[in-house]
Amino acid sequence: MPDLLDLSARFIDGDSATDADLGPTNRINLELSEIADGIAMVESFSHVVAFATDEGTVLFDGTLEALAPTAFARIRDWNPAPFHTLVYTHGHIDHVGGGKVLQREAAERGEPAPRIVAHEAVPERFERYRLTNGYNAFINHRQFKRSGVMGTGADGGPAFPRRFAEPDVTYQDALSLSVGDVAFELHHSRGETDDHTWAWVPSHRAACLGDLLIWSFPNAGNPQKVQRFPQDWARALRDIAAMQPELLLPAHGLPIGGAERVQRVLGETAEALEHLVDTTLAMMNAGATLDAIIHTVKVPEALLDRPYLKPVYDEPEFVVRNIWRFYGGWYDGNPARLKPAADAEVATEVAALAGGVAALVARAQTLADATPRRDGRPDPEALRLACQLVEWALGAAPEDPAARAAAREIYALRRDSERSLMAKGIYGEAAERG
Ligand SMILES: [Zn+2]
Repeated sequence: MPDLLDLSARFIDGDSATDADLGPTNRINLELSEIADGIAMVESFSHVVAFATDEGTVLFDGTLEALAPTAFARIRDWNPAPFHTLVYTHGHIDHVGGGKVLQREAAERGEPAPRIVAHEAVPERFERYRLTNGYNAFINHRQFKRSGVMGTGADGGPAFPRRFAEPDVTYQDALSLSVGDVAFELHHSRGETDDHTWAWVPSHRAACLGDLLIWSFPNAGNPQKVQRFPQDWARALRDIAAMQPELLLPAHGLPIGGAERVQRVLGETAEALEHLVDTTLAMMNAGATLDAIIHTVKVPEALLDRPYLKPVYDEPEFVVRNIWRFYGGWYDGNPARLKPAADAEVATEVAALAGGVAALVARAQTLADATPRRDGRPDPEALRLACQLVEWALGAAPEDPAARAAAREIYALRRDSERSLMAKGIYGEAAERG
């Protein structure tokens, strides 16, 4: 069993993580580690965190339905006490799948199922998933296809379940739970989601973070999902830091031990989000357009190099868009895009003005061929324009073999140039069209 606290200390103290090491879609080995006396974690997608109490085991998060039976078996091997309570830190499917498994297991044994506790907005999320099942199958296919972590639907794409285990107990702002000899203080905060819970466990000086820490840049941008809340997220991290924890138990990535390390990770993550919120708001208040803002506002490079802030899942540019949407709306300040001409119409016109589709393809190819390399990867900045030109070429002549070949090549290069799974997924799909 690897010593996870030791591993995380080495990453944090030495800044030695590479892109491939951590992040929310890595470390899904279904191994159990005892983190402290009475606390265990099964690394999964998401992790399951277990607390031993003298009235039974309390679980934070239930991972994906398909992985939960193994994860739960590992916890019962560690501590044979019955499961008492499952807390959903939020309603994402990789955190709630085990709820159904617990209910099924209890029914098979003829026992009452463990109690499920969550924020009061979780049932509404489940309802929204039922309304958007088709959409979610598409976007998860795009985002997670290559990571192999999601289940597969009938169409070959990852699908959301239609039924969820609803919480038995919900709360609004805060809830104190005492199970046997262990007290848990649950707190609601918006952050990655509107239904997020973090928990303070005073007897262990431990905080269960859910997705408020994911060992990569906060998932507060996500181009294909509903509103996220970077400003509340930062506030929650500050609130957690104020409890002076000695142990952080996130639902993705490694647990973190040691008061100083905890303060550093929480403080720097909050700082990165606050920087984006403050600078975006300052530009909005000065009348800037979204275009000006996304090409200006950046997180300081030194922060992005931290092993717990690398933009390998989400990325700052997407967070800036979410800040704009939260405080502003969807109009980006460019009047041509308020009620735009159809994409195909614009593409056809631009191609004609350029002297034909071939001219667009040639220029896109020239730009792509001239892409410099940075740190061994093509520079994504140089590919922004090449993608726009080849997209116009394809829009003007969707069946043109040269435009299609150039689009495949340029979007594949763009995929390889990007660091975030979200950008890679979207550009990867664009490369595979037709
Ligand atoms: Zn998660």
